[in-house]
Amino acid sequence: MTMKRSGSLLALAVGIAFSSTAAVAQAGPDVKLTRLDCGIPQAPTDVNTRFSDTYSYPGVKLQFVYSCYLIKHGDDYMVWDTGQATSAGAVAPKVGLVELLAQLKVGPEQVKFVGISHFHGDHIGQANALPKATLLIGKGDWDVLTSPKPPANVNPQLVSNWISGGGTVEPVPLDKDVFGDGSVVMLATPGHTPGHHSLLVKLPQKGAVILSGDAVHFQENYDGPGVPIFNFDRSQTLASIDRIKKLAANLKATLIIQHDARDVGKLPAFPEAAN
Ligand SMILES: [Zn+2]
Repeated sequence: MTMKRSGSLLALAVGIAFSSTAAVAQAGPDVKLTRLDCGIPQAPTDVNTRFSDTYSYPGVKLQFVYSCYLIKHGDDYMVWDTGQATSAGAVAPKVGLVELLAQLKVGPEQVKFVGISHFHGDHIGQANALPKATLLIGKGDWDVLTSPKPPANVNPQLVSNWISGGGTVEPVPLDKDVFGDGSVVMLATPGHTPGHHSLLVKLPQKGAVILSGDAVHFQENYDGPGVPIFNFDRSQTLASIDRIKKLAANLKATLIIQHDARDVGKLPAFPEAAN
C-alpha cells in the first residue's frame, strides 16, 4: 500500500514536471513582425496647420513614410495596412506589396488576414492585391466605405474586392484578438476616423509593440498631444492617445508611429523581422 502510494505520487510528480516543461515550450506562439515600405516619402512638409488644430508646431517640417507590416503567427500571416496604391503617382511604391511579400517567400494566398487601421487611401491602397485574405477593419470605417455617398476623401474602389462580395470581411466594432491568444490585438482607437484601430503585437523576444495607425502621425503629435484639423472627432482622438499611452506604460510596449520616419529604425530593416 505504501509502495503503491509513493509510486503513484512519483508518477504524479513526474506528470507535473512533464506538463510544466510542456507549458514552457508552449509559452507563446512564434510571432514575428516585419516592416515593409509601402510608398515613396515626399519632401518634408510643414505640419503646423494641417496636423495641429492649436498651431502647436511652428516651423516644424517632417517627412512622412508609408508603412505596411507583415505579422507571422505560427504558420499564419497577417498584413497590417497596405500603404499607397501602385497608381498613386509620386507617392506610389516602386515595389508593390505582393512583390515585397514574394521576397519574404510569402504568397498572397498565404495571407489569412489583412488588417486595416483606417480607410484613408495611404493605408488601404494595395488591399485588393490580397483578395483571399479576410479583411479586418473598424466597423465605423466599413460603414463609411459602404455608405451610399462616401466623403470625397474616401475611395471605396481600393477595397472593391470585399465591397463587391468577392472576399470575406469582418467589421470590427471594438477590440479584436486576431488569433485568439492575445498575441495580436486590434485596439479600438477612434478619432482620426470613426472606426480607427491600432495594433498590439506581442513578440517573444522584443516584447509588446504597438503600431499606431494614424492615432498619431509623429512623435510631437503623441507628446503634445496634438490633433490634426482633418480628424473625425477631437475628443475621441485625445481619448485614444491616452489609451495608447497607458497601454504602452503598462505593457512596457514599443510604440511605432507608422508615418514617422524616425520610428522606422525601431524594427530591423527589411527583409529582417523582429521577434
Ligand atoms: Zn489617415
